[in-house]
Amino acid sequence: MWEHIIGHTEQKKFLQNYLQAKERPHALLFSGAAGLGKRTLALEFAKALLCFQHNGTDGCEACRLMNLQDGNLSHPDFVLVQHEWDDKKDRLRDTIIIDQIRELTAKTALAPVMSPTRVCIVEDADTMVPAAANAFLKLLEEPPAGWVIILLAANVNRLLPTIMSRVVQLRFQAIEPQLVEQALQARQIEPAKAAVLARISEGSIGLALNLAAAKGQLDVFECRKQAAAFLEALPLAMPMNYLAGRSWLDKKLQREQALLLVQLWQLL
Ligand SMILES: [Zn+2]
Repeated sequence: MWEHIIGHTEQKKFLQNYLQAKERPHALLFSGAAGLGKRTLALEFAKALLCFQHNGTDGCEACRLMNLQDGNLSHPDFVLVQHEWDDKKDRLRDTIIIDQIRELTAKTALAPVMSPTRVCIVEDADTMVPAAANAFLKLLEEPPAGWVIILLAANVNRLLPTIMSRVVQLRFQAIEPQLVEQALQARQIEPAKAAVLARISEGSIGLALNLAAAKGQLDVFECRKQAAAFLEALPLAMPMNYLAGRSWLDKKLQREQALLLVQLWQLL
């Protein structure tokens, strides 16, 4: 089950047992860096929980309403809480606001439509504003019957200790570079590029894929060329003098670009 999700063997085993268990925690926390596959696994798990046969693969009506391929998640007993568009600022918010938690709480009071088990995934749960976190804590203190709540968070230190004490935490670790490399090659990324990306992506397939798609100055080979040239010139020039003279760095160095450069220096 979930063979297409690379790594995380222990977590997958835990979740498979959970599907069949009678006594089970109602709130789970998937913690770990971005891009490790927490969201992908949470969605597969949600699909299996909602499926009439609890496998998520039989193509039943519940499965069809959780179409993970095209992102059409219209199952009436599933709620996804994620960063929403801010009309005033004309950009995606980087926090979960209290209205979203209020809306979730209101939904938990309604009767199920299709499935006796209902599922909610809260993405970036560590970005709840304080009022949202307190409202969410109330929900956990009186867990709504039949609901399984899954929190996703990169930084558990930002979650309230009182929330932490009410969830079962599954820690997601970095994936082995060889596995990342295989996963990249399976997605038709050329072997030489896959090898470099696997070593600088800190065990995150998501990050590796983002880097693979980057163009121009964020292209990993272009960036590596610059990183190597910098290291070759180091004995001859002060680092800042060297960098100041590069046309490649004429424009202000972007944060992603700087991070990529540092990672490549470490690798080289
Ligand atoms: Zn099904």
